[in-house]
Amino acid sequence: MTDTTADAQAPAADEAGRNPAAPGGARTVASAVTPALVERLARGITAGEGAELVVTAAPLTGEPLASLPQSTPADVEEAYRRARRAQQAWAALPVRRRAAVLLRFHDLLLARQDEVLDLIQAETGKTRLHAFEEVLAAASAARHYGRKAASYLRDRRRGGALPVLTHTLEGRRPKGVIGQISPWNYPLELSVSDALPAFAAGNAVVNKPDTQTALTALWARELLVEAGLPADVWQIVVGDGPVVGPAVVEHADYVSFTGSTRTGRQVAQQAAGRLVGASLELGGKNALLVLADADLDRAAEGAVRACFSSAGQLCISIERLLVHRSVADEFLARFTARTKALRLGGGLAYGADMGSLVSDRQLETVTRHVDEAVKAGATVLAGGRPRPDLGPLFYEPTVLDGVTPGMAVCTEETFGPVVSVYRFDSEDEAVEIANSTPYGLNSSVWTKDSRRGRAVAARLHTGTVNVNEAYAAAYGSVASPMGGMGDSGLGRRHGAEGILRFTEAQTVATQRLLPIGPSHGLDDERFAALLTTGLRAMKALGFR
Ligand code: NAD
Repeated sequence: MTDTTADAQAPAADEAGRNPAAPGGARTVASAVTPALVERLARGITAGEGAELVVTAAPLTGEPLASLPQSTPADVEEAYRRARRAQQAWAALPVRRRAAVLLRFHDLLLARQDEVLDLIQAETGKTRLHAFEEVLAAASAARHYGRKAASYLRDRRRGGALPVLTHTLEGRRPKGVIGQISPWNYPLELSVSDALPAFAAGNAVVNKPDTQTALTALWARELLVEAGLPADVWQIVVGDGPVVGPAVVEHADYVSFTGSTRTGRQVAQQAAGRLVGASLELGGKNALLVLADADLDRAAEGAVRACFSSAGQLCISIERLLVHRSVADEFLARFTARTKALRLGGGLAYGADMGSLVSDRQLETVTRHVDEAVKAGATVLAGGRPRPDLGPLFYEPTVLDGVTPGMAVCTEETFGPVVSVYRFDSEDEAVEIANSTPYGLNSSVWTKDSRRGRAVAARLHTGTVNVNEAYAAAYGSVASPMGGMGDSGLGRRHGAEGILRFTEAQTVATQRLLPIGPSHGLDDERFAALLTTGLRAMKALGFR
């Protein structure tokens, strides 16, 4: 594999256009993702004969990558028909049999990771290490639900209406067919980490990945089928978001959506109109707090990962750096030096620190946010420009100072490698700035006193908080819920909530010996008096 890396701040070889000699070129991508593989995967899409084809491009080069059949709303209906048929037999299996499929998937995924790493890189343009994060996250979710599903889903004995006489069980039933809509930024992780618990709970899934990254989702489906999932239990449809997305929501028994807050609101409204539930994993404007007592070297290293992993196209990545004024100069010197030293690259080998953006739309947003901020008076401490010499969609990791509330980069999610610096004088002020956006996804706190870090965390309005780590500590804790407060979403993935959302609670109460009503010659009045005594006794005896 050719080495494709270049220092973030090295002069661009050709400011005007792509450097034709730039590594990570079409040949490199094509050699990893063969036409035969693409063709085989594309056959996994539920789409009719003669479906319209859409061609995706590899972000690293702009070269065509795959030609994918587009599903129509009628194809989506067909996908639901197949999924519904298959779901019944799947749900009838013992939960341990279903969970065993997840554990086999875990092993196959780790064994075959090279193939999917190539695919992820080809479809997203991210570095191999950032692609590997997806393998890590997907395998962790498979292990967790493979091991814990039976315990999360088992019938639980509850106190009955009448002690001894009423035997009550709380059970969990699958919702049926889950409509799952996913974005392009973590195509492996976001296609499986929600689908796996849904399957373990006995559901089928109709999934619409983003067209740009559909191959990765199709690859994951193939692997899960190899691990033992009946093929029809996971249907994949592909197509234009505003057309195929609503068709997926239209037939779902529950919706699992990951994407922007704007689309999430539309999905939530449509689901509410149908009275089906939805979990929504949405955008963020995440803050990292460097407290006065932080280890500045560790904080600078962590902040670089927090801001620039997957070129900032990570929902939980950091776009606001809040630094205590007493350490701001020292911290920023270390942070900007590390940022400038990042090696950008698009090769399919480990080694590069930051890859490409995924699309023209992403590049346009990043460029606009930075250019507008600079025009309005912000200062560039590092980066600040596209790097067409490396590939059509590269943009330097960028640090901005002097960002003010009127600038889009201050309040809107950029979803790119851009972070703004703010200074604070007290913990109260830091918490106030961190909580000043309508979002509430993730945050990160750096301090040598981890107890203090956790106390600050409790005041932050975000679904996850990482103390002395960027984002992976909380996200990787798959036994614990992950999701957003406020405009960052509804519901949670991971942990008990991550699987129970795909179930309906059902209470089955069996009455024994005596009915709950006047009987054995008791008239209404004596029955009421008896139950009044019974209620008093239950409270006195500590019944809950
Ligand atoms: P997006 O909302 O544009 O698209 C997400 C998905 O929704 C795509 O599959 C798209 O085709 C589909 N879609 C588009 N219009 C639709 C409609 N009207 N009805 C139903 N589906 C529709 O988001 P994006 O730009 O692809 O992804 C980036 C966003 O996702 C960012 O805001 C990021 O923060 C967020 N995200 C959140 C998480 C999380 O866990 N909270 C994870 C990853 C990404």
